[in-house]
Amino acid sequence: MELPPIVWAGHPVLRAVAGEVPRDQIATPQLRALAQTMAEVMRAAPGVGLAAPQIAVPLQLIVLEETEANMELLGPEDRLARGRVPFPLTTIVNPVLRPIGEHRVTFVEGCLSVPGYAAQVERFAEVEVEGLDLSGKPLRWRVSGWPARILQHEVDHLNGVLYIDRMNSRTFMSTGREPDPGEDPLD
Ligand code: ZN
Repeated sequence: MELPPIVWAGHPVLRAVAGEVPRDQIATPQLRALAQTMAEVMRAAPGVGLAAPQIAVPLQLIVLEETEANMELLGPEDRLARGRVPFPLTTIVNPVLRPIGEHRVTFVEGCLSVPGYAAQVERFAEVEVEGLDLSGKPLRWRVSGWPARILQHEVDHLNGVLYIDRMNSRTFMSTGREPDPGEDPLD
């Protein structure tokens, strides 16, 4: 099956507030299929997260995953500084995010919907997300480091927010064709 394209900045769906997944759509084969498609699009990109609006589906659904292969180009110091750790594919329906504490960290991030660029973005160091898994069971994840950054980036997508709204615009850069280990495409 052909994967749907990732829509780019300029598409109105990326600026709209996504709708909650209705109760009667949770735990359906249709929602599972959508989440599976999103995971495949994310992996093919490749990226470490994807929000449904990025494939033009205006629903509050996100997927994220970090693998050793994604982090291959990063040295141990960069991994440590960013808090990058592998974690399994995680799908969250109707996620609600809250920061834990006030501590913020700044790193370069990018977005599959703004291809070819990256910039420094300040994010909360630690967050807690609550939502539902694909079976409709409540899910709660408190996390710091890179997964916390991915979560903030993806939940922003559900609110029509792009990283360019939060970036330090003077650090906005072209990433060219060859990704640099210091540049971390997010999703
Ligand atoms: Zn993005």
